[in-house]
Amino acid sequence: MTRLDTMDCEFPETLADALELMADDTTRGVPLSGGTDLMVQWAGGVVAAPQRVISLAGLPELKGITLKDQCVVVGAGTTHAELRASEVIQARLPALAAAAATVGAQQIQARGTIGGNVANASPAGDLAPALVITGGAVVVAGVHGERRVNLTDFFKGYRSIDLRADELIVRFELPVNPDGSREMFRKIGTRSAQAISKIMAACRIRIEDRTIRSVALAVGSVAPTVIRLTELEAWLTGRVCDEDTIAEAVRRTVSAVSPIDDIRSTAAYREWVSGSMIRGFLDAFFNAEARERR
Ligand SMILES: Cc1cc2nc3c(=O)[nH]c(=O)nc-3n(C[C@H](O)[C@H](O)[C@H](O)COP(=O)(O)OP(=O)(O)OC[C@H]3O[C@@H](n4cnc5c(N)ncnc54)[C@H](O)[C@@H]3O)c2cc1C
Repeated sequence: MTRLDTMDCEFPETLADALELMADDTTRGVPLSGGTDLMVQWAGGVVAAPQRVISLAGLPELKGITLKDQCVVVGAGTTHAELRASEVIQARLPALAAAAATVGAQQIQARGTIGGNVANASPAGDLAPALVITGGAVVVAGVHGERRVNLTDFFKGYRSIDLRADELIVRFELPVNPDGSREMFRKIGTRSAQAISKIMAACRIRIEDRTIRSVALAVGSVAPTVIRLTELEAWLTGRVCDEDTIAEAVRRTVSAVSPIDDIRSTAAYREWVSGSMIRGFLDAFFNAEARERR
């Protein structure tokens, strides 16, 4: 096993330098952001510690949260603490702010990054549902330039993403919550902190005059990768949000997910809770819209 104190660490100061190192398989190392996934995997022997790592911590191109043309641009090196504290994220992407606030606890949020969370590609990665409901994209780069990939397509399968060995995630481009829309994120874990999700979900919805005008729904930890409930979204759009609609939405959610039994939960529980989460979103938003109409 490679000891951490004998590991070769590169500290590039620009993205271009980091990409040069990544381009050549004799200089390529494992990209390291906050290390909150990697260091645990190495220490536990889940993944062998590599000979070389490339620290992304000093790359200015991976920092920052900016609002541009109704899109929030978030650098891949943005930490969960920065996400949850950002007024732009709180106002424009409230589900993402809520998801970041549930990751680990303060220490993990101070180190762990959005890029690391997505690249780790765990089905239980908490940011994924909040990201995919935006309909946004991830921008990755290699020495030959950038590629923009729709976030839903980026998550390809169990621990698999659309990222080549010589590429890095640079930023996320996330369309904001449009006027009149609401968002919510919910996570079920064993505790309220330091708990990996049993299941989590996010919703972006616009209801007017009791009718669902647009909706995006995503659930995590119920399939090999985060899933957008696109068929349910299409079915819900244009319907009056009443008890019959909500009951049918719950049934359709349960048949759309394919969870497994594992150390954290059972498939049966996950199926049941995924339906309950969708019910909770629709109830909450319908009641909020009804209050405003009064
Ligand atoms: C105690 C504890 C509690 C946790 N709780 C949660 C939780 O509640 N919810 C949750 O979702 N996660 C949780 N995690 C997991 C982890 O903290 C998060 O996934 C975190 O966001 C990972 O980010 P990082 O910057 O630390 O990634 P790293 O560990 O640095 O990297 C993770 C992976 O991403 C790759 N990578 C990193 N940045 C890039 C980039 N820019 N481009 C390409 N590849 C990149 C690395 O090579 C590696 O494969 C927890 C971890 C611990 C130790």
